[in-house]
Amino acid sequence: MSERFHLRCRECQRDFSNRPSSICPECLAPLDVKYDLDAARKTFTRENIAARPANLWRYAELLPIPDGYKSDLPVGMTPLVAAPRLGAQMGASRLYLKNDAVNFPTLSFKDRVVAMALAQAKHFGFKTVSCSSTGNLANAVAAQAARGGFDSWIFIPADLEPAKVLGTHVFGARIVRIAGNYDQVNRLCSQIAEQYRWGFVNINLRPYYSEGSKTVGYEIAEQLGWRLPDNIVVPMAGGSLITKIHKSFDELIAVGLVPEKRVKFFGAQATGCSPISRAVKLGKDEIDPQKPATIARSLAIGNPADGLYASRVIRSSGGWAEDVSDPEIVTGIETLAAAEGVFGETAAGVTVSCAKALIAQGRIAPEEETVLCITGNGLKTTDALAGRMVLEAPLEPRMAAFEKFMGTALAVSAAS
Ligand SMILES: *Cc1c(COP(=O)(O)O)cnc(C)c1O
Ligand SMILES: [Zn+2]
Repeated sequence: MSERFHLRCRECQRDFSNRPSSICPECLAPLDVKYDLDAARKTFTRENIAARPANLWRYAELLPIPDGYKSDLPVGMTPLVAAPRLGAQMGASRLYLKNDAVNFPTLSFKDRVVAMALAQAKHFGFKTVSCSSTGNLANAVAAQAARGGFDSWIFIPADLEPAKVLGTHVFGARIVRIAGNYDQVNRLCSQIAEQYRWGFVNINLRPYYSEGSKTVGYEIAEQLGWRLPDNIVVPMAGGSLITKIHKSFDELIAVGLVPEKRVKFFGAQATGCSPISRAVKLGKDEIDPQKPATIARSLAIGNPADGLYASRVIRSSGGWAEDVSDPEIVTGIETLAAAEGVFGETAAGVTVSCAKALIAQGRIAPEEETVLCITGNGLKTTDALAGRMVLEAPLEPRMAAFEKFMGTALAVSAAS
């Protein structure tokens, strides 16, 4: 294994050379990317990193970037902001938001994973890239494929939000709508991946793809001044993001960039699709697949590929998992927007409302430092807020009309 990184089986620990495959041929467990941490330590220093451009490529030593690969896409380094008003409402005094709703180029954390997958797609010589998607991945693959000169084939459940379909179509991607849920779409894609020489970012390129999620963790640590928070709340679909943030913190401790610390991991799901939170609440790691029924479509994976590992990370960290109803998701979106001026998608509503419940239960201590991962943008899921805004009749463009309107409006707000 002379390369800077290679693949290693998560269960049997066998090593494999880099290849477009996500499953150990010996034991069928997932493959992960493994780095030579001793080599990385020499150049992966706070000073070196600080001197590099403010995007996720600055963490190159611990990312699966092929030798000589250069990207000019400034993905990542999204804001980490204090959320004092939201914190006061929820009873937590040191709350932060990691805001991937403004990630470049397609406004979700999926831009990070796709940046890694397409670097490898180029390296392996794929001309066509593809994915099964709950929406945000479709947007990110379509956009970055357009810029990278790939053809893209995007497989989605037919009932996705119109903005997510449009935000895929506009980049010239071939969209394949499937009459079925995500798990059925994903199964079909696994079969296609065996027949066609395509780079499926979340199937045969999954080990590389998922490494992109680590950059959320690297950035949080760097933005806190190279230290780790006490708690982190992460929305879960396939369960990859939460396990990879955990891996990122372990790696930062291993290379000596942050002091050792046990961070508690909290997973957030919608009750209508909660296979991981259910396993955690039952005190086990095995996942019972569910049939999703929730407005949080980006999280609607009933048979999560990394569910077992997500449950392990949560339970061994001393954290917990929670799930919330669709009305609570809407309230979460509105509370976040009104308190902090951040418009997150349904997954953000899940995260905010689960955090509120976890604080109320005493599982997240009020005075501890807690980061909420806001992973996608509210402008893509406006359907979730349908009926929440009633437009007033338009006014004549006259002062008298306005003053009459203002009088009524003030009377209404005084009465309520
Ligand atoms: C995909 C997605 C997630 C969850 O990602 P996993 O790694 O599959 O758990 C969270 N939030 C948003 C907005 C997503 O699109
Ligand atoms: Zn194995």
